[in-house]
Amino acid sequence: MQLTEGGCLCRAVRYGILGDPLSSIVCHCATCRRASAAPTVAWLTVDRGHFHFSCGSPRSFQSSRDVVRRFCEICGTQLTYESARSSNTLDVTTASLDDPDLHPPTMEVWLENKIAWQGSNESLDHYRRDSSEGHEG
Ligand SMILES: [Zn+2]
Ligand SMILES: [Zn+2]
Repeated sequence: MQLTEGGCLCRAVRYGILGDPLSSIVCHCATCRRASAAPTVAWLTVDRGHFHFSCGSPRSFQSSRDVVRRFCEICGTQLTYESARSSNTLDVTTASLDDPDLHPPTMEVWLENKIAWQGSNESLDHYRRDSSEGHEG
């Protein structure tokens, strides 16, 4: 299987993903927005068994009851999202890949939380909240 690599801005934390992601989304939810201080966050959903940190150990933060987010404690880059409700998968920030063009998003979720001045891509599938398989805020 192909290995896709990525990591944080300061390169203290690096990771690898085996094979293709299960899905690729853009999330407009308020929690992603605050965690990253960005209007949207793009995520790849991958099988947990196909993801590993190859260098460094990120800090974690419980952003809601069932959700843990990991980030580099030195530079602050958001790296992963794990939900207890999706124990077989984990989300990785698409923009932390060495080549974010590898896996373009196919849908936008949580549009009901979209900032008014933030555009959306009409060529993607749109969900007011989470998709059936996707991110849960
Ligand atoms: Zn870093
Ligand atoms: Zn989100």
